[in-house]
Amino acid sequence: MAGKRGLIMGLANNRSIAWGIAKALHAQGAEIALSYQGEALKKRVEPLAAEIGSDFLVECDVGDEAAMDQTFAEIKQRWGKLDFVVHAIGFSNKEELEGRYINTTRDNFKLTMDISVYSFTAVAKRAEELMSEGGSLLTLTYYGAEKYVPNYNVMGVAKAALEASVRYLATDLGTKGIRVNAISAGAIKTLAASGISGLRDMLHWQEANAPLRRNVTIDDVGGAALYLLSDLSSGVSGEIHHVDAGFNIIGMRVLDEPAA
Ligand code: NAD
Repeated sequence: MAGKRGLIMGLANNRSIAWGIAKALHAQGAEIALSYQGEALKKRVEPLAAEIGSDFLVECDVGDEAAMDQTFAEIKQRWGKLDFVVHAIGFSNKEELEGRYINTTRDNFKLTMDISVYSFTAVAKRAEELMSEGGSLLTLTYYGAEKYVPNYNVMGVAKAALEASVRYLATDLGTKGIRVNAISAGAIKTLAASGISGLRDMLHWQEANAPLRRNVTIDDVGGAALYLLSDLSSGVSGEIHHVDAGFNIIGMRVLDEPAA
């Protein structure tokens, strides 16, 4: 990744998937800009940025068009171009990440779709202008897009739309040499995931039934992201790549005990 420059959006703390990705990219020589949601997160993000040798921090709420414009204007001014963008952002009101999906309100449906889905398209639109030599865009999704997962509710509907966006964006941007992919990560205990009711059950079920009989880490995701953001995956676009210890291939409860 030496000589490549990219923006990672969605770093909240050292448990964030964005952090696993940032570490993996930094280890391979990438130059990284980080965006964070609001002033409150700044003090958490600053020391992490320093750890990966970055002083390029931008505050950006992706629900705010002006903030998005400002973020990409700053990148244009400082770097002139971009090689990759990581979108590790999702949001839904916690009260609706439990119980029945049918109770989702119109307001939270719109908010969830706006922050978790539309924002990736808004990012792609702005990144395109800075990727005249091609590039790689990556977002994060979850298995609840494909199958019913208890309590995931409107987030599952949003992730299904996000995965469809990956295919449309990949085709829109393909002629410019810009690749668009998603990683479907297994459940990991992060700030965002803690808002989902029954996360402990999800983690336990996954660990007991995934082919690798373990949960994944942010470093597992970081390794796969490195591949998708580097030239190693030059022929890959529009892909939803599972990093879930194989959990998605299982059709029924696995009967043995997790490996000791
Ligand atoms: P996290 O809480 O560390 O990261 C979520 C980030 O989204 C935070 O940095 C938060 O500030 C940001 N965000 C929310 N609303 C925003 C807004 N309006 N503007 C800008 N940023 C905003 O949790 P995470 O698990 O690392 O989540 C990263 C991505 O990975 C999300 O898309 C999530 O859905 C996805 N994902 C997570 C898991 C999991 O189990 N943790 C599994 C699969 C996919």
